[in-house]
Amino acid sequence: MVTKSRFVTELPKQYDPKLVEADVVGLWSREQTYDLVRKHRSRSKKFYFLDGPPFPSSDTPHIGTSWNKVIKDTVIRYKRSRGFNVRDQPGYDCHGLPIELAIEQKFGVHAKKEIQSLGLERFISECKTFAETNAAAMTLAFEDLGIWMDWNKPYMTHHDYYIECDWWGIKQAWTKGLLDHGQRVVHWCPRCETVLSDYEVVLAYTVLRDPSIYVKFPLVNNPKEFVLVWTTTPWTLPSNVGVMVNPNFEYAKVSAQGETYILAKERIEPVQVETGQSFQLLETFPGSELEGLTYRSPLETLVLAQRNVQNAHRVVLSSEYVTLTEGTGCVHTAPGHGEEDYEVGEKTNLPVLMLVDDQGRFLPEAGKYAGKPIRETNSEIIDDLKSIGFLLYAGEIEHRSPVCWRCKTPLIIRATKQWIIRIAQMKDLFVKEVDSTLWIPEWAGANQFKNWLQALKDWVISRQRFWGTPLPVWTCTSCGKDRVIGSKQELTESAVTNVDIPSLHRPWVDAVKLRCDCGGVMNRVEDIIDVWFESGGASLACLGYPANATDAKFWWPADFIVEGRDQITAWFFGLLRHGIVTMGRCPYKTVLMHGFALDSAGREMHKSLGNFVTAHEVAEKFGRDAFRYYVLQSTLWEDLQFSWDAIRQYQGDLSTIWNTYVFASTYMSLDKFSPAKVPLSGLKRSLRAEDRWLLSRTHRVIKDVTKLMDEYKIHEAVRRLKEFLVEDLSHTYVRYIRRRTWVESQSRDKLAAYATLYAALKAALTMLTPIVPFLMESIYQHMLRNAEPKHPETVHLLDWPKYESKWVSDSLEEEMKIVQELLSSIAELRMTKALKQRQPVPQILVATNSSTVKNTLRTYSALLREQANSRRLKLVPKRIMPELDNPERFGRTKFAEGELFLDLKLTKSELSEGLARDVVRRMQQMRKEMDLKVDSFVYAYLVAPGKDEASLLRSQRDYIAGEVRAKQLKITSDETKVQLPYYTKQWQINGATFEFGLCETSKLGQKGRVEKAPTTEPQ
Ligand SMILES: [Zn+2]
Ligand SMILES: [Zn+2]
Repeated sequence: MVTKSRFVTELPKQYDPKLVEADVVGLWSREQTYDLVRKHRSRSKKFYFLDGPPFPSSDTPHIGTSWNKVIKDTVIRYKRSRGFNVRDQPGYDCHGLPIELAIEQKFGVHAKKEIQSLGLERFISECKTFAETNAAAMTLAFEDLGIWMDWNKPYMTHHDYYIECDWWGIKQAWTKGLLDHGQRVVHWCPRCETVLSDYEVVLAYTVLRDPSIYVKFPLVNNPKEFVLVWTTTPWTLPSNVGVMVNPNFEYAKVSAQGETYILAKERIEPVQVETGQSFQLLETFPGSELEGLTYRSPLETLVLAQRNVQNAHRVVLSSEYVTLTEGTGCVHTAPGHGEEDYEVGEKTNLPVLMLVDDQGRFLPEAGKYAGKPIRETNSEIIDDLKSIGFLLYAGEIEHRSPVCWRCKTPLIIRATKQWIIRIAQMKDLFVKEVDSTLWIPEWAGANQFKNWLQALKDWVISRQRFWGTPLPVWTCTSCGKDRVIGSKQELTESAVTNVDIPSLHRPWVDAVKLRCDCGGVMNRVEDIIDVWFESGGASLACLGYPANATDAKFWWPADFIVEGRDQITAWFFGLLRHGIVTMGRCPYKTVLMHGFALDSAGREMHKSLGNFVTAHEVAEKFGRDAFRYYVLQSTLWEDLQFSWDAIRQYQGDLSTIWNTYVFASTYMSLDKFSPAKVPLSGLKRSLRAEDRWLLSRTHRVIKDVTKLMDEYKIHEAVRRLKEFLVEDLSHTYVRYIRRRTWVESQSRDKLAAYATLYAALKAALTMLTPIVPFLMESIYQHMLRNAEPKHPETVHLLDWPKYESKWVSDSLEEEMKIVQELLSSIAELRMTKALKQRQPVPQILVATNSSTVKNTLRTYSALLREQANSRRLKLVPKRIMPELDNPERFGRTKFAEGELFLDLKLTKSELSEGLARDVVRRMQQMRKEMDLKVDSFVYAYLVAPGKDEASLLRSQRDYIAGEVRAKQLKITSDETKVQLPYYTKQWQINGATFEFGLCETSKLGQKGRVEKAPTTEPQ
C-alpha cells in the first residue's frame, strides 16, 4: 500500500458561517456522522443523560428551549469526546392541558361538557395528532440547530409502553400503602374544571382588583356587639363557619355609632384609616378570652346552608395563621375554601361547607346565589350585606393572585375528593436525597429546592380531564372496593370485557370492566393522572421499564439532567417524588439549573409581546455556531438577556478564531508541514522560550477546561478557551512567530514554531468542538484531516486532549507577563520620542533589582530584542544610572520592577534598516492590493528621492528582496519612470516621496495595461 503524503492543508481565507455550516450539514448527513460517533463509543462506560421533555404545544421552540437543548448537546458531545457511551434519547411531554386547550380552541369549545358532545374519541385523536405534529416540527428545529440526539426514537409520554410505566408507578404507591382517596382543599380551575397542584399554582399569577370589605358578625347574646372581620373574597362568606383569632394578641372592644366591635388592638388605627370611622376604645383583653364566643351568620336569611349548618359560627384560636399585617385580627374562616381554614377547622371541629360546583357556580344550598358564577356574585353579596346592616365598609384592593397556568382563569380554592399519594410525612427522606445529589449551582439545591421541600405536601395525582394517562383504579359498583392495575397484561387478565382497544387512553379504557372478588362489576374511576407524575417517571419509562428491566439495570439512575430554574418546583421535584415513591431514591445524580432567556429589557419573550426571537432567526443571520457560542458563554444559572448586538460581537470572536487557524494553515500548507513526520517530541531542543511558553499555556488550558466541563461550568470553559485562542494565540504567539514562518528554508527553528502552534491549535479544536461543532468540523476537514495518517473521518472522533504536567511551567508564564509589560513600556517610550516601531535602536538597557525580571531578560532575550526592535538588550547595575541621565541620548521610563533606557543614537546601519522596514511594509501592502499569493515572486523597482536614501537602501537589498519575494530589485534615484505592466505607487516616507513598482514574475512581458494607483499614502 502506498502511503499518501500527509500534511496540513489550506483553509479558506474568509469565515462565512453560511457556507461553513451548509458544508458541514451536508457532510454529516452524507457520512452519517452522528451514527458513526455513537457507535464508536457504544462499548464504553455509560453516561445516562435524561432529557427534560418539552410540551409540544407549539411547533416553534422558544429560544429558551433552544438554549436548553444546546447545553444538553454540548454536554453530550463533551462526554463522548471523553470516551463515554452516552444515552441521548430526547423526549416530549405529550399529554396535558396545554394540548387539550389548543384542541378546544380549534373546535370553539368553551366548557368541559362540550367536549363530551364533540365526542371523546375524536377529541383524544385530535390531541394525539396535534402533539405528534408539533413534536415532529420541534424535532426538525432542534436537528437544524445541530442538536445531536436520538431523534429517530424520542420517548413520548402518550405511548402505551409509557402509560404502562405510569400504571406501574401508581401500583407501587398502592402496594406501599401510600395511595389514598380523600378530601383535600385544592386549587381549582373553574374553566378547565380540574384540580391543579401547588407546583402548578406557582407557575402563573395575575394582579386582580378585588373587593376589600369589613363585615360585622353579630354576637348571639348581644345583637349590638359584633366581631369585625375583613375579607377580599365575599363569595366565600356563604361558606363561613368560624372566626380565627390569635390567643397571644391583645384584642379590644371599641364603639362607634352606638355599636360595639371586637378587633385586635393593633389594628384599630389602620382600620380607622381605611374605613374612615372613628372608634372609641372601651376595653382590652387577651385573644384567648374570645375562644368559643358565638355569632350569628350575617347571611343566614339568604343562604340555606348557613341556617342548617351545625356546630359552626364560633371563635376558634390560631396562633399560626392570624397576623397583624392586614385585616382586623379576626379572620373569616371557611374550611371549604382555604387550606389554613381547613387545617384549623379540622383541629377545632368546624364543619366544612363547600357550596361551589366544578364550574365555579353556587350550588342550590347557597340559596339566593344558587347557579351564579361565584366571582360575579361578589357585588351582590356586598349590596345584600349593606341592606341588612352588616357591612361596615367596602373598598377595593389589588393583589397578586394565582391563575390557571394554561387558560389564565383565576383559580379558586375548594375542598374536593381526590386521589393522593401520601408523601408529606417523608420530608426527611426527600432532604436526604437532595443532599446526596450534586446540584449546580450548589445554592439551587441547598437553598431553593430544600426551601420548597419544607412545605412538602401530599401529592394530589388525580385530574378531572381527558388527554392524559388514565388513573388505573377500578371501583366495585357493589361493595365499593378499589383495585389498582399495574400493566396492560394485568388488565387483560382481569377484564370481563373486550380489551382489544386502540390505546390505553380514555374513552377506550373507560369501557373496560373488571370482576370484583364479591362478584360485582368494577368501573374505572374517570380521573386521569397529573402530567407531572408522568414526566416524573421519565427516568424509568423511557427505558421501557418495567417490561424491559435489562436496560434499566444498565442505565438507571440518570447521571445528568439540566433544565431551567422554573423546574425546581416542577420536573426536578416530580422526578424526585416519583423516584422516592417507586424506587426509594432520587432518580438523578447530578442536576444543572439554567436561567431564563429574556429580551434585552429583561422581559419574558412572547409572540404576544412582539419580542419573540427564535434560535432559527439568529442562526439565519449569524450562524448556528454564533448562537451556540453566545448562549453558552452566558453564565448558565443567570438569566440571559438576549441582544442582537451581543451576538454580533461574539461572532467577531469566531472570526478571530478562524483567522488564527487561517494563519497557521496558510504557512503550514505552503511548507507542506507534516506533524506526523516532524513531531514535537523530535524538536524539543529547537524550541524557543516562547514555544515552551505556549505549550505551557496549552496544557494549562487543557487542565482548566477539562475540570470546568466536568463540573458543568460550561460558560467558564467557553470563556477560558476564548482567552486562550484570542489572547495567547492570536494576539501573542502568532504575532511573535510571524518572522519565523516567513523564512524560506525548512529550518528547525521554523518547524519548532509550526509543531508548537499545531499542538496548541489541535488541542483547542478538540475542546471547542462540543461548543461550536460546525466551525470546528469545517476547520478539521479543510486543514487538519489530512495532516496525520491516523486522523479519523470527523473531528468528533478525536479524543479529548491529554493534560501533561511536564509542559507546564509557572516561571515561563510569569516571565512572559513581564515580557509583555516591558514591550508595552518600550512601545510607549518610542511614541513619546516619535520613534517608529520599525526603526531599530542600538540598545535597550534595563535596571532592576528583581530576580524575576533578570531571569526574564535571560529567558526571553531573543524574543525581547526582536519584538522591541533593538540590537542589544542589557541589564545594567543601578549604580550606573546617573551616567545614563542624558535625555539627548537616552529615552527612559519606569516599569513596575525597575527602569529602562532606550538608546536614541542611531548609526547609518540602524537608519538604513529602519528605512528598509518602511519600504517593506509598503511593498507588502502593494502585494496585498495586487492580490498576490503568499508564495508568488515579483520583480521590483524602487525609486528613492535622493542619492543618500538610495545608498542606504542598497545596503539592505537582500533583506528587502527576501521580505517581498523579489527575484530582482532595482534601486535608483533617477527620475526614470517605471515601465508597465508594473503596478506602481508613490509613498511618503519621513516627508520624502518614494515610488515603488511591482510585477509578478509570470506577468512580465505581457502587454496588459496596468492602472496607475493614487499617490497618496493609504490610511
Ligand atoms: Zn384553566
Ligand atoms: Zn365488590
